[in-house]
Amino acid sequence: MNRRDAVKLVIRTGGVVLGGSAVAGALGGCASSRRGGPGKIGEPIPNDPSVARAPASTQPWELSDPAPTSESAPSVASIRGVISRSKWARGRPRPWLADPMNGVRRITVHHDGMNPFTNSSWGGAAHRIEAIRNSHTRKGWADIGYHYVVDPAGRVWQARPLELQGAHVRSANPHNLGICVLGNFERQRPTSAAVRSLEDLIASEMHRLRIPLSEVRTHQEFAATACPGRSLQAKMNSTRSRGGRLRRA
Ligand SMILES: [Zn+2]
Repeated sequence: MNRRDAVKLVIRTGGVVLGGSAVAGALGGCASSRRGGPGKIGEPIPNDPSVARAPASTQPWELSDPAPTSESAPSVASIRGVISRSKWARGRPRPWLADPMNGVRRITVHHDGMNPFTNSSWGGAAHRIEAIRNSHTRKGWADIGYHYVVDPAGRVWQARPLELQGAHVRSANPHNLGICVLGNFERQRPTSAAVRSLEDLIASEMHRLRIPLSEVRTHQEFAATACPGRSLQAKMNSTRSRGGRLRRA
């Protein structure tokens, strides 16, 4: 048994469900209403294992749990142009509150589902991503639920470390890489810069992590949600269809 397994055993012995699928939670964030109303910052995306965590402050594993390693997933540093998490996040991830990813097998695309967002500045995007991270960690989660965020200018931001399982699709978080495009695409259209960056990022991760196109999904392909919004869903349909950029990637 390696150290991380030992850590998990301690947690499970305490009666905590870490697998994710057994954890129920209120819909929120990108999983907001079917009609695409803005989600509230502060509502959880279901299934972060941390929702059912044990009280953390006195657990023996809190201080001894090592930072996630890159053994099970290649480091994000190998993707060019990705803004590292340390450039925007005001808090560190808490890896003891999440399961390890243990390999990526699929990619899921989201919008943030809040109010429409068109700010193309670095600071504007950083502020919004930090607000999402804050809303998630205030619920006791390990970190922001997604692994990458794409902003209206087409920047790609590293979010939750890829070594950690995400919290973005009810019952389908294991091995699932989550990408969130900032904005509400029920109520606005994604910029061409954002769409192009999203396609490039997905194509890059498909190659790097050996994920087939059939495993590139959107949130609403798993669950009854408006996410990622009708206009981004249309873009995803088109890019995956014959002649689309991802189909040709
Ligand atoms: Zn979503």
